[in-house]
Amino acid sequence: MRVYNFSAGPAVLPEEVLKEAAAEMLDYQGSGMSVMEMSHRSKVYDKIIKDAEADLRELMQIPDNYKVLFLQGGASSQFAMIPMNLMKNKVADYIVTGQWAKKAYQEAALYGKANKIASSEDETFSYIPDCSDLPISEDADYVYICENNTIYGTKFKTLPNTKGKTLVADVSSCFLSEPVDVTKYGLIYGGVQKNIGPAGVVIVIIREDLITEDVLPGTPTMFKYKIHADNESLYNTPPAYGIYICGKVFQWLKKQGGLAAMKEYNEKKAKILYDYLDESNLFKGTVRKEDRSLMNVPFVTGSEELDAEFVKEAAAAGFVNLKGHRSVGGMRASIYNAMPIEGVEKLVAFMKEFEKNHTEA
Ligand SMILES: *Cc1c(COP(=O)(O)O)cnc(C)c1O
Repeated sequence: MRVYNFSAGPAVLPEEVLKEAAAEMLDYQGSGMSVMEMSHRSKVYDKIIKDAEADLRELMQIPDNYKVLFLQGGASSQFAMIPMNLMKNKVADYIVTGQWAKKAYQEAALYGKANKIASSEDETFSYIPDCSDLPISEDADYVYICENNTIYGTKFKTLPNTKGKTLVADVSSCFLSEPVDVTKYGLIYGGVQKNIGPAGVVIVIIREDLITEDVLPGTPTMFKYKIHADNESLYNTPPAYGIYICGKVFQWLKKQGGLAAMKEYNEKKAKILYDYLDESNLFKGTVRKEDRSLMNVPFVTGSEELDAEFVKEAAAAGFVNLKGHRSVGGMRASIYNAMPIEGVEKLVAFMKEFEKNHTEA
């Protein structure tokens, strides 16, 4: 029996995709083998990776002057790869809105001057700072954001004013959740295990002029965007099976009506949960309203014992992985693209019942 899985990542995938993959496990389209077993240089695989890229380009309307790279090492390897490739002046500005942005900022400091130009750490990252007029460094190579903060449940609703500097964004936990204007970014990247596919794949969408030989001295070959761009993500063996599943999810998203339809669906889903959090006498959302994420919804009861009791009872009822991140406690419901609306409706019904049973009449 499948449960309602509210995990922040690796996370729920569309059931249809899993069933298709299962059906193709032993014999992928008459090849007599699984996608896991075939050469990444074969004709069959070439079509899988090319189709995946074409579908992603269509979904996000990626302009021709951007490359799409399927890499490995997770989102965290990009924390180093970005400064190694983009820090020509050895200066970059970071907006620190959570643990992932902070890690990226700390990593960049290994390679050059990383400036923390804004932060919301003063209030446990529960909001997005005003980024309309930040002290952007004159010689900054880029401005960095984590667009959706998986742990804290905040999202940039407007992009920062970078004053003409290249914008770099980690979109791991909001990838393909709504339409984006790719032209506003120099580089967009994300680990796919939050909203797209199996852990191990990281997708990088990068404007061509940012791909150069001029990288920091000592940059490993595998950490150069140029080597992967020149070889169409096949410089070495890519995370082949993971890319195949991502491709299936892109197809599934197209069938759902694309990113505009996903946005509408995600807004509808998130509203059910947020509306209840706003009216509940027991559960409270922890994020400033205007900065709420559509994907990750943290909440608390105000009592650690009651939080633990809720997580336990919810799991027994088939709503799993609702425990908040170990750094913040409480609860977090991650309601990515593949979480059906019934999952959220039933969770809210369960929360109402829990509230009734745990508050004085
Ligand atoms: C999960 C996550 C990461 C880390 O991803 P890994 O693939 O485990 O390195 C980075 N950024 C964000 C926003 C995330 O949600």
